[in-house]
Amino acid sequence: MAINITSSWLDEFPARVAELDRAHLRRQRRVVVPESGARLSIDGHSMLAFCSNDYLGLAAHPALVQAACAGAQAYGVGAGASPLVSGHSAANEALERELAAFVGLPRALYFYAGYTTNIGIVPALVGTGDAIFSDALNHACLIDGARLSRAKIHRYAHADLDALERELAQSDAPRKLVISDAVFSMDGDIADISSLVAVCERHDALLLLDDAHGFGVLGPQGRGTLAAAGLHGAKASRRVLYMATLGKAAGVAGAFVAGDEALIEWLLQKTRSYIFATAAPALLASALRASLELIEQDEWRRTHLQKLIARLRSGLTAGLKDSHWQLPPSQTAIQPLLIGRNDEALAVMEALRARGIWVPAIRPPTVAEGTARLRIALSAAHTEADIDLLVEALTALAKHTQAQRQTEPTY
Ligand SMILES: *Cc1c(COP(=O)(O)O)cnc(C)c1O
Repeated sequence: MAINITSSWLDEFPARVAELDRAHLRRQRRVVVPESGARLSIDGHSMLAFCSNDYLGLAAHPALVQAACAGAQAYGVGAGASPLVSGHSAANEALERELAAFVGLPRALYFYAGYTTNIGIVPALVGTGDAIFSDALNHACLIDGARLSRAKIHRYAHADLDALERELAQSDAPRKLVISDAVFSMDGDIADISSLVAVCERHDALLLLDDAHGFGVLGPQGRGTLAAAGLHGAKASRRVLYMATLGKAAGVAGAFVAGDEALIEWLLQKTRSYIFATAAPALLASALRASLELIEQDEWRRTHLQKLIARLRSGLTAGLKDSHWQLPPSQTAIQPLLIGRNDEALAVMEALRARGIWVPAIRPPTVAEGTARLRIALSAAHTEADIDLLVEALTALAKHTQAQRQTEPTY
């Protein structure tokens, strides 16, 4: 019998998108073409950009481009099938060895993306009846991986290790997994790694650490947050499964997990997003091997980046002293400027854009309600003059906003 459908949920999408517009939550993609340094052509306009996680300025480096071309010539462009079906290239094999050695852990497994790494490895480690303990500010892919696993999820307040320890002590789950960003992606603060490892030791838990924003930037020669905490090589702990992405400071694409030999072998056997996905193209592994060499050698990139971070912070601290905008105490290349309201954050982003500066506004649900912000991402590709331009523009906008607030009390 034919059913006469008078209204369908399929007709609701225009109104649902309009609702996002009204809440200032509609996201847009710009069309970008890289120019020199940290400049991008965005929708056809040349802009000074503070939006990229290319923290070391390697994404367009000629050595990486050349290695990618050589990789394509040697292996072709596509990998053909899952690494467990068609194998992975000699370049991928070499990259995994080099990554493990670089972070000082026994073995590494290379994935085509960070997001799919986390949504795959968490369910491979724990399942129904087990328990996950998750920092409240973790990245979306750790949260989604936890949900997929069907383990019980205990969310602890951001960086509150006493709360974490209480939750661990109360749990009688047979397998306990603690998951945490190493550098928090929207706030830029660094997790207390040594204390996290100690807590995990006391409660027989495994610590999965996502170092997307620390790898290449923090620690000796950019070996990452774990190395910065001294937990690599002979001091490596079986309690830690280290994960880092390779599309940020490393300037290419993909991610890896590294840790104990048997643990990595288990993940190779059981991670569905690894087993049922086509292997990463060898040209990426070739580019990443070149990147790893530069990360190790080019200490000046990290030194320069640290100088820029200090310059931005001292400039903004002085320029925003009468403003309600806040600069939390981040020591990393992620410098959030807390604005508060969604519409005000968007207005500041647009005003900067009119001045040829591109800083993305980050709104809920990516960050908590009422904490809309500009996420300023610094890179070794920036110059000191770039930083000064941004500081001057934000100082002027803060004065303007403050004056507006005083003349319009209902604002
Ligand atoms: C970017 C990011 C990811 C995802 O990595 P992709 O390679 O971009 O998929 C995972 N975790 C954190 C903390 C990130 O910032």
